[in-house]
Amino acid sequence: MIHAALLLAFVPPADFDATFTGRTLRFDYHHVGTATEQHVAYAGLRIEGEWPGSRKQLVDPVDLGKYRFRVLDVASGDVLFARGFCSIFGEWETTGEAKQSWRAFEESQRFPEPRRPVFLALDERGDDGAFHEFWRQEIDPTSRFVDRSPLVKNGDVITLRENGPAATKVDLLVIADGYTAAQRGELEADAKRLTDTLLATQPFARHASDFNVRVLHMPAPSSGISNPRKGDWKTSQLGLSFNAFDSDRYVLTFSDRVLREAAANVPYDALILLANERKYGGGGIYNLWATCAADTEPSPYVFVHEFGHSFAGLADEYYSSQVAYEDFVAPGVEPWEPNVTALLDPSKLKWRDLVIAGTPLPTPWGQAKYDEVDLAYQKKRKAAIDAKATEETNEALMREIKTQTQPLIAAEKFVGKVGAFEGAAYQAKGLYRPEVDCIMFTRNPTSFCRVCERALERTIARFTE
Ligand SMILES: [Zn+2]
Repeated sequence: MIHAALLLAFVPPADFDATFTGRTLRFDYHHVGTATEQHVAYAGLRIEGEWPGSRKQLVDPVDLGKYRFRVLDVASGDVLFARGFCSIFGEWETTGEAKQSWRAFEESQRFPEPRRPVFLALDERGDDGAFHEFWRQEIDPTSRFVDRSPLVKNGDVITLRENGPAATKVDLLVIADGYTAAQRGELEADAKRLTDTLLATQPFARHASDFNVRVLHMPAPSSGISNPRKGDWKTSQLGLSFNAFDSDRYVLTFSDRVLREAAANVPYDALILLANERKYGGGGIYNLWATCAADTEPSPYVFVHEFGHSFAGLADEYYSSQVAYEDFVAPGVEPWEPNVTALLDPSKLKWRDLVIAGTPLPTPWGQAKYDEVDLAYQKKRKAAIDAKATEETNEALMREIKTQTQPLIAAEKFVGKVGAFEGAAYQAKGLYRPEVDCIMFTRNPTSFCRVCERALERTIARFTE
């Protein structure tokens, strides 16, 4: 006999079809502001294809992200859809530039097309850890203001893994940038190599059959993406470029509209933008997308690490690299990221259940020695960037730091144990990471720490259960 409660868990809410049409509606807008002021300007509503996400988990139970998007029924006030996210604006507003000037960023939100008028609302997380609404607008999805023109097919789709219907699988879409028509075979090999690495990493490996993997190839006029520091400018399909926020290895695109129109031809829950590049780089923003340069020695690491950011909101656990952010986490505030803590109250540590009895909190580790080695490396690395060194030189440096830090970490008393190790999220002091090492901390391991692994697993379940 099947228990009634279990049976319920497998029945979709009767009201999905009553509430939604089954298609995807995209809301395009501009997020505009400075370090201290922000505005949202409506840019349009666009019908895409079939809704590829879960039809059961419409209100994200995972409380992650700097922002949250909500869709509310006008008549009842019920929240029909909600998800946390981060954005380029959210990163940019913490840079020095945002203290000097205004900027506008294209953003968008995708959700199942409602049948009746709804409010769209945007919330931002405050220092109290709670979300506070900063923008809301009523829309009528049945109105003539919704763009229902057919999607323009651009490029072709290579299917690497097909495991089932989009509604119950994680649909991973790799979009190529900087691959010419003649480089299609190279793209297929790069995308296969990197997604195979991802799906061989836990917890993805034990859920590999929950993933569909597709690649979109829009042939580029020339090979590669822009590299402003070398004066190398390319016309590419997605407009990916190095040196975002003047950080040499940070790869982003600011053209959300172009990207979404291209992606709308393929069902997707998560995007990875793959740059046909020999130069080291990448990026990852929660519930936006990850980027990765395909042709570098550490590209498998970059691909998995950046996907950790974009898929599950994982924070960087490292703290000494050159990044543009200032005051990333305010003092006395508990970060929302699942893998970083301010350890304000060790008895309430968010991963307390994974800490074995007898592990001290904070957990001691040889930070002084590690920092000495790492700082020497950062100095060499900066000099190499300034001297426009070759990728071979940079990769030799990366191998060198690996050789130096691996034995240090292996000799740690609490290696492999979950605790709270000081130094995380760009801060050497006051923020703590769950294990001494993790793919979010160094390039040494090929696995996530247990806390990151659990966060990723929870995200997978959001799409498949
Ligand atoms: Zn971790």
